[in-house]
Amino acid sequence: MANLTLKVRWQMFVNDTIRAFARHILRRHKDNEHGALLGGPGSGKGTLGTRLGPHRGLNLLGMGDVLRREDIQKEYGDRLAAMSKGGLLPDALVHEILERELRMPAYKRGAIFDGVPRTLGQALLLERSLAWQGISLDWVVLLEIDDEELVERLTHRRTCPNPNCRRTYHLIHNRPKVDGICDECKTPLIQRKDDVREVIVERLRKYREEITPLCIFYKTRGVLYEVKPAKGSTPQEVFDLVKSVLTSN
Ligand SMILES: [Zn+2]
Repeated sequence: MANLTLKVRWQMFVNDTIRAFARHILRRHKDNEHGALLGGPGSGKGTLGTRLGPHRGLNLLGMGDVLRREDIQKEYGDRLAAMSKGGLLPDALVHEILERELRMPAYKRGAIFDGVPRTLGQALLLERSLAWQGISLDWVVLLEIDDEELVERLTHRRTCPNPNCRRTYHLIHNRPKVDGICDECKTPLIQRKDDVREVIVERLRKYREEITPLCIFYKTRGVLYEVKPAKGSTPQEVFDLVKSVLTSN
């Protein structure tokens, strides 16, 4: 498998060593499951996660939800505000927040990561945190959707801004019952500032740049499942596809 730098390979070796140490010396045995969902903005990995979580008996660790939470905002607010100007969060900060999150009882049986890792750096840091517990990611699902379709989905997306709801709609395929109003909580829907075409194209460019090395990394680890749903697949069809890929492996 091509193109992982020596530095990355060295870090992988260190992580393997830490994991072996944790298993044998600290006697931390693997009795849980960890997976991650990768996919571009609008790929539907959040929706997939809400189905896959109960199916695998795991809680979803959605980075977006964690970052919006009040206790995290309180503690990391200043550092998070600094990132909102520049786009991607620094890897070290993501790592710190993740480590803290993983210690919560909700993730004792494992977790499905959604929205993290985004970069190869984050993947290595996540691997390091898990290694100290004697574990590693069991599977990584990449939802591969054409850019064209992602742009189409996102420009038509409307979001419920209510932090306890956050349901999303599609102006053509998944309309709210009353125009512009959330079915669930009756809040007026908004178009997110980053769901306009120019911003989407830039988000996709950044995503493609980051995802390639991530895929090479997880392929090398032997845990990557690339899933390419047919155009126009429903969330249920995507879920069924992923479910069959994971159970047959
Ligand atoms: Zn709502």
